Amino acid sequence: MALIQASPSQVTHSKSASLATILPANTPMPICCDQCDHEQTYTMTQLRKLPTLSCKACGDSRAFSHFELTVVEKTLNELGYYLQKTA
Ligand SMILES: [Zn+2]
Repeated sequence: MALIQASPSQVTHSKSASLATILPANTPMPICCDQCDHEQTYTMTQLRKLPTLSCKACGDSRAFSHFELTVVEKTLNELGYYLQKTA
């Protein structure tokens, strides 16, 4: 059972100034509605299941795609955040 695996290559604490922050899998992520920009939060655990997102404001619903999930995770990585892989 794998727990956290975050870039294990550099563990030295001297030169690398940017520390990776591990986010728990239940971190809430704001997702905006395509139709009305209403923002709702979903946890990464929910998003990994690629759920149907239904907007509470306008009732619009759409599927959260694997592509979007990849984008979210990649964006977080670029900001120095790494998501815990298992909930
Ligand atoms: Zn909406």
